[in-house]
Amino acid sequence: MKSGLFSIVAVAAAICAWTFVDRTSPTNRRKVPGSVMTIVREGRLRADIVLPAKPLDCERYAADELKYHIDKAFGVSIEIVREGKYRASKYPSHIFVGATSAAKTINLPGRKLKKDEWIVRTFRKNLYLLGRDSDIKYNDIGNIWNPTIYGTIYAVYDFLEKEMGVKWIWPGPTGEVIPKRNHFEIVRINRTGIEPLEERYMHGTVPWGMPKIGFSNEESAKRYCKEQNKFLVRHRVGRRRRTKTGHAFESWWKRFGKSHPEYFNQLPGGERRPAASGSLVTLCVSEPGVWKQAVADWKTWWEKDGRRWGFEPWVNCCENDYVSLCQCKRCRSIDPPDPRFAKSDYWNGKMTIADIDRIRKERGSYGLNAMLCDNRWGIPKDDPRLRHIPSVADRYARFYNAVQEEVRKINPDARVVGYAYENYLEAPRKTKLDPSVVIDIVPRSYFPYDKVESDYFREVMLGWKNAGVKEFLYRPNFMLAGGNYPFDQGRLILDDFAFAYTNGMKACEFDSLRGSWACHSMMNYALIRAFRNPLHGYDQAREELLSAFGSARYEISKYLDGIYAYTTQWTFDDFHKVSWQNCTGGNHGGGSYHNSPAILGEYFTERFFTDNYRLLDSAKKAANGDKEVIARIEFLRKGLKDAEMTRRTRIAEKTKLAAPGDKAKAAAFDAAFKAMNDYRATVEDDLICNFRYEARTEMRMKWPHKEGNTKPSKSGRQMEY
Ligand SMILES: [Zn+2]
Repeated sequence: MKSGLFSIVAVAAAICAWTFVDRTSPTNRRKVPGSVMTIVREGRLRADIVLPAKPLDCERYAADELKYHIDKAFGVSIEIVREGKYRASKYPSHIFVGATSAAKTINLPGRKLKKDEWIVRTFRKNLYLLGRDSDIKYNDIGNIWNPTIYGTIYAVYDFLEKEMGVKWIWPGPTGEVIPKRNHFEIVRINRTGIEPLEERYMHGTVPWGMPKIGFSNEESAKRYCKEQNKFLVRHRVGRRRRTKTGHAFESWWKRFGKSHPEYFNQLPGGERRPAASGSLVTLCVSEPGVWKQAVADWKTWWEKDGRRWGFEPWVNCCENDYVSLCQCKRCRSIDPPDPRFAKSDYWNGKMTIADIDRIRKERGSYGLNAMLCDNRWGIPKDDPRLRHIPSVADRYARFYNAVQEEVRKINPDARVVGYAYENYLEAPRKTKLDPSVVIDIVPRSYFPYDKVESDYFREVMLGWKNAGVKEFLYRPNFMLAGGNYPFDQGRLILDDFAFAYTNGMKACEFDSLRGSWACHSMMNYALIRAFRNPLHGYDQAREELLSAFGSARYEISKYLDGIYAYTTQWTFDDFHKVSWQNCTGGNHGGGSYHNSPAILGEYFTERFFTDNYRLLDSAKKAANGDKEVIARIEFLRKGLKDAEMTRRTRIAEKTKLAAPGDKAKAAAFDAAFKAMNDYRATVEDDLICNFRYEARTEMRMKWPHKEGNTKPSKSGRQMEY
């Protein structure tokens, strides 16, 4: 009887085990055809992780990440040992991580690897995970202001994703999707890989120190940075080369304003000086003295610092942050005929220097800039379609060519990098670019990123390509939109990302990562995923994200698709209206990077929130008690709640502003603001949002956040705001 019962139990257990096994990936089956190595057998470890005797910090980081995921997946604690110390007999198999002697003995890597390159390889009963590495300090891993050469880490991530089915959908534990199992065999693997983009990162990731604003305590702020940073490294955010771009001539007015006025833009009336502040002056780019000075500055930098610090020998010719203004005869003679010059008051002579000074007084430093170009990412006050904006790209193309020619005489490897930006975003029409010139393209878009924007961007990029450009850096601003509220304009952005990649994009730098992970979950995941596969696309990323929601997948797809539909229903006209109904600080339409919550009263309705809470409730029900899935649903809900509280605060603020001196209304705003912050304090450890970023934005609207006592970073790199 006893043995009979035992048999029944054993058979039942076997059936259960088989059923369990069969539903998961093939690597979970007992006997894997062609299996070369067992890492876990029936819940028991059959391998350890072996590092070199003296590992680099990035090899240790890679081993720690591998251990973290193996432990979670199998409920074990895999050992990390070092060569020379481990007992080869303890386990039948080993996972060799980094440049181990064991790898060397089987001729791995066998050649000099390229930067970012990695290898995942089995040999006999062992696994080898290695790549091109450099000596980066453990805590500096993820700092994109240095080259991020750590291929071994990428080898580990490749292994985790492809062999173990791991996904990271947002920062922190709730975003880690680690399939659980108790058995793991692997078959023969022989893969190498390299990231498709040389540089892939976002501004505003705030990794290195963070003043205490927005978070109630320093530990939570630090935790946010650390987890976000880890997530970005997992998605291979990094840069294998070091380049110098960005506004290059900000110190020139100070240096040469008196000695070389001919370097600078000639304004109406003939004067050469800044139209706004000195750092915003633009150049007379047809002036040969400018070309020579740019090359001389580069040479000094290259010999002193550039080469020593491992920079690319690029001459940064990216103009200052202003619309190009030079009206001198020589510059104008380069501009091809364009009827828009005659229609533009700046270019047809109607606007005087007195007008320019008045505009600056009335509309601030960027007032003139906003009138003379079409950077819709600023949500312009005047409808740009009513203005005439001629492109002066030909003079910039000639400028880049001229500097390229000069610098080539000194260093044949040197390359010029210059913007396609402001009123020289549209491609040159008669000038062909020297094939060495790299163009840093800054699309005008912000929000909405619609078909009009997409078509415009494609036309512009193809124009530059047809003018001879072989290599582009892509530097969009559209992530500045969306604040801390539900927002997703990812689909077209992803389409255009793929378009850019197929047409010569070699690097991408987004401005800026707001870190609203709960409310921007779909868009952020799709964009970050595209960094390492530019052709991945929105819909594939959507499938991956939804796969983390188990039996609540359908409800969450309705939730995420609803956010997408809500965002993309906004036309430029509708949004323009709401934006300028909520202007703050004179020159900033609401909803811009300056004041993203200003529009919230009109942008959302009460019903938007009640409907979406209801959807999340039904998702929770559908999750059937799956704790991980429920935690993810709650993560989304917390973001939604934060957006709702922020909206209430904005509505209370508007009510207060409409009734100056009304103490009850002022008190109602204070109460709403306090309730919002109190709520944030309860969820700040869940990584739903970078509350510091939001607090900084809200402070620009004079919401009374208080600076904490934490000092800014001492690393020399200031926060990207
Ligand atoms: Zn000029």
